[in-house]
Amino acid sequence: MLFDTHVHLNADQFEDDLVETIERAREEGVQYMTVVGFDRKTIPKAMEIAENNENIYAAVGWHPVDAIDMTEEDLAWIEELSSHPKVVAIGEMGLDYHWDKSPADVQKEVFRKQIALAKKVKMPIIIHNREATEDIVEILKEENASEVGGIMHCYSGPVETAKECIDMNFMISLGGPVTFKNAKLPKEVAKAIDLKHMLVETDCPFLAPHPNRGKRNEPAYVKLVAEQIAELKGISLQEVEETTTKNALEFFKIQS
Ligand SMILES: [Zn+2]
Ligand SMILES: [Zn+2]
Repeated sequence: MLFDTHVHLNADQFEDDLVETIERAREEGVQYMTVVGFDRKTIPKAMEIAENNENIYAAVGWHPVDAIDMTEEDLAWIEELSSHPKVVAIGEMGLDYHWDKSPADVQKEVFRKQIALAKKVKMPIIIHNREATEDIVEILKEENASEVGGIMHCYSGPVETAKECIDMNFMISLGGPVTFKNAKLPKEVAKAIDLKHMLVETDCPFLAPHPNRGKRNEPAYVKLVAEQIAELKGISLQEVEETTTKNALEFFKIQS
Protein backbone atom coordinates (compact mmCIF):
# COMPACT_ATOMS: atom_id res chain seq x y z
CA MET A 1 0.00 0.00 0.00
CA LEU A 2 1.25 3.49 -0.88
CA PHE A 3 0.40 7.09 0.01
CA ASP A 4 1.22 9.64 -2.70
CA THR A 5 1.55 12.72 -0.49
CA HIS A 6 1.67 15.35 -3.26
CA VAL A 7 -0.49 15.17 -6.38
CA HIS A 8 -2.02 17.75 -8.66
CA LEU A 9 -4.93 15.68 -9.97
CA ASN A 10 -6.66 19.07 -10.04
CA ALA A 11 -4.45 20.14 -12.97
CA ASP A 12 -5.83 20.56 -16.51
CA GLN A 13 -3.68 17.60 -17.59
CA PHE A 14 -6.09 15.21 -15.81
CA GLU A 15 -9.32 16.79 -16.97
CA ASP A 16 -10.10 14.08 -19.51
CA ASP A 17 -9.16 10.94 -17.58
CA LEU A 18 -9.29 11.68 -13.85
CA VAL A 19 -11.35 8.59 -13.00
CA GLU A 20 -9.07 6.27 -15.00
CA THR A 21 -5.97 7.88 -13.48
CA ILE A 22 -7.26 7.23 -9.95
CA GLU A 23 -8.14 3.64 -10.94
CA ARG A 24 -4.64 3.02 -12.31
CA ALA A 25 -3.21 4.33 -9.01
CA ARG A 26 -5.42 2.02 -6.94
CA GLU A 27 -4.33 -0.93 -9.10
CA GLU A 28 -0.71 -0.17 -8.17
CA GLY A 29 -1.67 -0.10 -4.48
CA VAL A 30 -1.77 3.69 -4.16
CA GLN A 31 -4.63 3.76 -1.66
CA TYR A 32 -4.13 7.30 -0.37
CA MET A 33 -3.35 10.65 -1.96
CA THR A 34 -3.20 14.32 -0.99
CA VAL A 35 -4.28 16.71 -3.74
CA VAL A 36 -2.59 20.09 -3.45
CA GLY A 37 -4.44 23.29 -4.44
CA PHE A 38 -2.42 26.47 -4.58
CA ASP A 39 -4.48 29.24 -6.20
CA ARG A 40 -8.05 30.39 -6.93
CA LYS A 41 -8.46 27.84 -9.70
CA THR A 42 -6.82 24.74 -8.25
CA ILE A 43 -8.12 24.99 -4.64
CA PRO A 44 -11.83 24.42 -5.45
CA LYS A 45 -10.87 21.55 -7.74
CA ALA A 46 -8.73 19.95 -5.02
CA MET A 47 -11.67 20.22 -2.59
CA GLU A 48 -14.00 18.67 -5.13
CA ILE A 49 -11.72 15.68 -5.79
CA ALA A 50 -11.17 15.12 -2.05
CA GLU A 51 -14.90 15.31 -1.33
CA ASN A 52 -15.78 12.85 -4.10
CA ASN A 53 -13.12 10.20 -3.51
CA GLU A 54 -12.48 7.93 -0.58
CA ASN A 55 -8.96 8.20 0.90
CA ILE A 56 -8.10 11.27 -1.15
CA TYR A 57 -7.37 14.35 0.94
CA ALA A 58 -6.68 18.01 0.17
CA ALA A 59 -4.03 20.58 1.08
CA VAL A 60 -4.78 24.26 0.51
CA GLY A 61 -2.33 27.13 0.27
CA TRP A 62 -0.77 29.70 -2.03
CA HIS A 63 2.10 28.94 -4.40
CA PRO A 64 5.20 31.18 -4.12
CA VAL A 65 5.38 31.73 -7.89
CA ASP A 66 1.98 33.47 -7.66
CA ALA A 67 2.59 35.12 -4.29
CA ILE A 68 2.04 38.53 -5.85
CA ASP A 69 -1.61 37.62 -6.58
CA MET A 70 -2.59 36.59 -3.05
CA THR A 71 -5.04 38.92 -1.28
CA GLU A 72 -6.22 39.04 2.33
CA GLU A 73 -9.50 37.51 1.08
CA ASP A 74 -7.59 34.55 -0.34
CA LEU A 75 -5.88 34.02 3.00
CA ALA A 76 -9.21 34.19 4.83
CA TRP A 77 -10.62 31.69 2.33
CA ILE A 78 -7.76 29.25 3.00
CA GLU A 79 -8.37 29.65 6.73
CA GLU A 80 -12.06 28.87 6.28
CA LEU A 81 -11.31 25.75 4.19
CA SER A 82 -8.79 24.50 6.75
CA SER A 83 -11.62 23.31 9.02
CA HIS A 84 -13.05 21.02 6.31
CA PRO A 85 -12.69 17.39 7.45
CA LYS A 86 -10.78 16.41 4.31
CA VAL A 87 -8.21 19.23 4.48
CA VAL A 88 -5.05 17.83 6.08
CA ALA A 89 -2.40 20.54 5.58
CA ILE A 90 -1.76 24.16 4.57
CA GLY A 91 0.30 24.53 1.40
CA GLU A 92 1.98 24.33 -0.82
CA MET A 93 3.84 27.47 0.24
CA GLY A 94 7.48 28.50 0.27
CA LEU A 95 9.94 30.23 -2.03
CA ASP A 96 10.71 29.75 -5.72
CA TYR A 97 13.64 31.76 -7.08
CA HIS A 98 13.58 30.02 -10.45
CA TRP A 99 10.68 32.06 -11.83
CA ASP A 100 10.57 35.84 -11.39
CA LYS A 101 6.84 36.55 -11.48
CA SER A 102 6.79 37.40 -7.74
CA PRO A 103 9.69 39.34 -6.17
CA ALA A 104 11.53 37.58 -3.34
CA ASP A 105 10.32 40.02 -0.66
CA VAL A 106 6.68 39.44 -1.67
CA GLN A 107 7.21 35.68 -1.65
CA LYS A 108 8.73 35.86 1.82
CA GLU A 109 5.85 37.90 3.18
CA VAL A 110 3.21 35.54 1.74
CA PHE A 111 5.19 32.57 3.08
CA ARG A 112 5.35 34.06 6.59
CA LYS A 113 1.62 34.87 6.55
CA GLN A 114 0.78 31.28 5.67
CA ILE A 115 3.01 29.87 8.41
CA ALA A 116 1.22 32.18 10.88
CA LEU A 117 -2.13 30.95 9.57
CA ALA A 118 -1.09 27.29 9.91
CA LYS A 119 -0.06 27.94 13.52
CA LYS A 120 -3.40 29.64 14.16
CA VAL A 121 -5.40 26.69 12.81
CA LYS A 122 -2.87 24.15 14.13
CA MET A 123 -2.14 22.39 10.85
CA PRO A 124 1.11 21.19 9.31
CA ILE A 125 2.55 22.94 6.24
CA ILE A 126 3.79 21.73 2.86
CA ILE A 127 6.93 23.47 1.63
CA HIS A 128 7.77 24.17 -2.01
CA ASN A 129 11.43 25.07 -2.45
CA ARG A 130 13.19 25.94 -5.65
CA GLU A 131 16.68 27.39 -5.46
CA ALA A 132 15.84 28.95 -2.09
CA THR A 133 16.91 26.40 0.55
CA GLU A 134 18.82 28.80 2.79
CA ASP A 135 16.07 31.44 2.97
CA ILE A 136 13.41 28.79 3.56
CA VAL A 137 15.25 27.25 6.51
CA GLU A 138 15.83 30.72 7.97
CA ILE A 139 12.14 31.65 7.74
CA LEU A 140 11.02 28.29 9.18
CA LYS A 141 13.27 28.97 12.15
CA GLU A 142 12.26 32.60 12.60
CA GLU A 143 8.57 31.78 12.41
CA ASN A 144 8.86 28.77 14.73
CA ALA A 145 7.36 26.48 12.13
CA SER A 146 8.43 23.50 14.28
CA GLU A 147 5.29 24.21 16.29
CA VAL A 148 3.18 22.71 13.48
CA GLY A 149 5.80 20.79 11.48
CA GLY A 150 5.43 19.97 7.85
CA ILE A 151 6.71 18.34 4.69
CA MET A 152 9.68 19.34 2.57
CA HIS A 153 7.99 18.34 -0.68
CA CYS A 154 10.03 16.88 -3.54
CA TYR A 155 13.12 17.45 -1.46
CA SER A 156 16.30 17.85 -3.49
CA GLY A 157 18.67 19.57 -1.07
CA PRO A 158 21.69 18.21 0.82
CA VAL A 159 21.56 15.64 3.64
CA GLU A 160 22.65 18.22 6.24
CA THR A 161 19.69 20.51 5.50
CA ALA A 162 17.32 17.53 5.54
CA LYS A 163 18.53 16.77 9.07
CA GLU A 164 18.02 20.39 10.09
CA CYS A 165 14.44 20.21 8.80
CA ILE A 166 13.80 16.90 10.62
CA ASP A 167 14.94 18.62 13.82
CA MET A 168 12.23 21.22 13.16
CA ASN A 169 9.55 18.54 12.98
CA PHE A 170 9.56 18.18 9.19
CA MET A 171 9.21 15.10 7.02
CA ILE A 172 11.36 14.63 3.93
CA SER A 173 9.32 13.72 0.87
CA LEU A 174 11.09 12.26 -2.15
CA GLY A 175 9.66 12.29 -5.67
CA GLY A 176 10.59 11.35 -9.23
CA PRO A 177 14.05 13.00 -9.20
CA VAL A 178 15.39 10.27 -6.85
CA THR A 179 15.09 7.90 -9.84
CA PHE A 180 17.03 10.17 -12.23
CA LYS A 181 20.50 8.87 -13.05
CA ASN A 182 22.13 12.29 -12.54
CA ALA A 183 20.28 13.19 -9.31
CA LYS A 184 23.08 12.91 -6.78
CA LEU A 185 21.53 14.70 -3.78
CA PRO A 186 18.14 12.94 -3.63
CA LYS A 187 19.92 9.58 -3.82
CA GLU A 188 22.24 10.59 -0.96
CA VAL A 189 19.23 11.71 1.08
CA ALA A 190 17.39 8.43 0.38
CA LYS A 191 20.38 6.51 1.72
CA ALA A 192 21.21 8.71 4.72
CA ILE A 193 17.81 9.65 6.16
CA ASP A 194 15.96 7.18 8.37
CA LEU A 195 12.83 5.83 6.69
CA LYS A 196 10.75 6.98 9.65
CA HIS A 197 11.25 10.61 8.52
CA MET A 198 10.41 9.89 4.88
CA LEU A 199 7.39 10.22 2.61
CA VAL A 200 6.92 9.51 -1.10
CA GLU A 201 5.16 11.60 -3.73
CA THR A 202 4.85 12.12 -7.46
CA ASP A 203 4.08 15.88 -7.73
CA CYS A 204 2.15 14.73 -10.83
CA PRO A 205 1.66 15.80 -13.61
CA PHE A 206 5.26 17.02 -13.24
CA LEU A 207 8.58 15.22 -12.68
CA ALA A 208 7.69 11.71 -13.87
CA PRO A 209 10.14 9.12 -12.53
CA HIS A 210 12.46 7.07 -14.72
CA PRO A 211 11.66 5.35 -17.14
CA ASN A 212 8.71 7.70 -17.74
CA ARG A 213 10.78 10.86 -17.44
CA GLY A 214 9.40 13.64 -19.65
CA LYS A 215 5.92 12.11 -19.88
CA ARG A 216 2.88 13.15 -17.89
CA ASN A 217 3.37 11.92 -14.35
CA GLU A 218 0.56 10.21 -12.39
CA PRO A 219 0.05 8.74 -8.90
CA ALA A 220 0.51 5.12 -10.09
CA TYR A 221 4.20 5.97 -10.70
CA VAL A 222 4.86 6.67 -7.01
CA LYS A 223 5.69 2.97 -6.83
CA LEU A 224 8.80 3.68 -8.96
CA VAL A 225 9.92 6.20 -6.35
CA ALA A 226 9.40 3.69 -3.53
CA GLU A 227 11.27 0.99 -5.50
CA GLN A 228 14.24 3.32 -5.98
CA ILE A 229 14.36 4.14 -2.25
CA ALA A 230 14.20 0.42 -1.40
CA GLU A 231 17.07 -0.29 -3.77
CA LEU A 232 19.22 2.56 -2.40
CA LYS A 233 18.59 1.54 1.20
CA GLY A 234 18.99 -2.17 0.49
CA ILE A 235 15.59 -2.99 2.00
CA SER A 236 12.37 -4.46 0.60
CA LEU A 237 9.79 -2.49 -1.35
CA GLN A 238 7.23 -3.73 1.15
CA GLU A 239 9.08 -2.06 4.02
CA VAL A 240 9.24 1.24 2.14
CA GLU A 241 5.54 1.03 1.28
CA GLU A 242 4.44 0.13 4.80
CA THR A 243 6.61 2.65 6.62
CA THR A 244 6.01 5.64 4.34
CA THR A 245 2.25 4.98 4.34
CA LYS A 246 2.21 4.73 8.13
CA ASN A 247 4.28 7.95 8.32
CA ALA A 248 1.84 9.80 6.08
CA LEU A 249 -1.27 8.59 7.91
CA GLU A 250 0.23 9.70 11.22
CA PHE A 251 1.50 12.96 9.80
CA PHE A 252 -1.88 13.93 8.28
CA LYS A 253 -3.72 12.54 11.36
CA ILE A 254 -5.83 10.21 9.25
CA GLN A 255 -7.60 7.32 11.01
CA SER A 256 -7.13 4.28 8.78
ZN1 LIG B 1 5.89 22.34 -5.47
ZN1 LIG C 1 3.09 20.78 -6.08
